Amino acid sequence: MQKNATGSASGGLNSENPQKPAAEKAKQSTVSKSQTPMQIAMEEARAAGARGEVPIGAVITRKNQIIARAGNRTREINDPTAHAEVLAIRMACEVLQNERLGECDLYVTLEPCAMCAAAISFARIRRLYYASSDPKGGGVEYGPRFYSQPTCHHAPDVYSGIGEAEATALLRDFFKEKRK
Ligand SMILES: [Zn+2]
Repeated sequence: MQKNATGSASGGLNSENPQKPAAEKAKQSTVSKSQTPMQIAMEEARAAGARGEVPIGAVITRKNQIIARAGNRTREINDPTAHAEVLAIRMACEVLQNERLGECDLYVTLEPCAMCAAAISFARIRRLYYASSDPKGGGVEYGPRFYSQPTCHHAPDVYSGIGEAEATALLRDFFKEKRK
């Protein structure tokens, strides 16, 4: 099911669709050569951890630009749906003024849960990259395996394992600290 992180040009044909240049506003920053989107997602994860949230971060890119970045905020705003992926999707939809993110790729530090896997599908995200797998709470390669179900109408291309060691260490340290 998973593809190699080196990737392919799959989806490349429609990826440079020239329409909709409209609502690209301020927030964008070009992906710097020194920091990959996954490294920026990792920054968001660390920032979430520093706020006392589960340290998970997500980034959405479109045409090599970061259009949204977020970390978990479930505690801060008392919202069980405020996962990094959901917040990043909301932000990207706001930036693009569109409920569909068909030319966008999402990077997240942990395998999305079932809720986020569904949201990624509904948003028509093109590619999903995640660092660590989550046998306990994942919804992509574990649990409901959302994208393999006949009721799933859009599945992103899935790439996993990029930056896995760092993301896993971050979560492990966070929960170790909590158990003290
Ligand atoms: Zn989630």
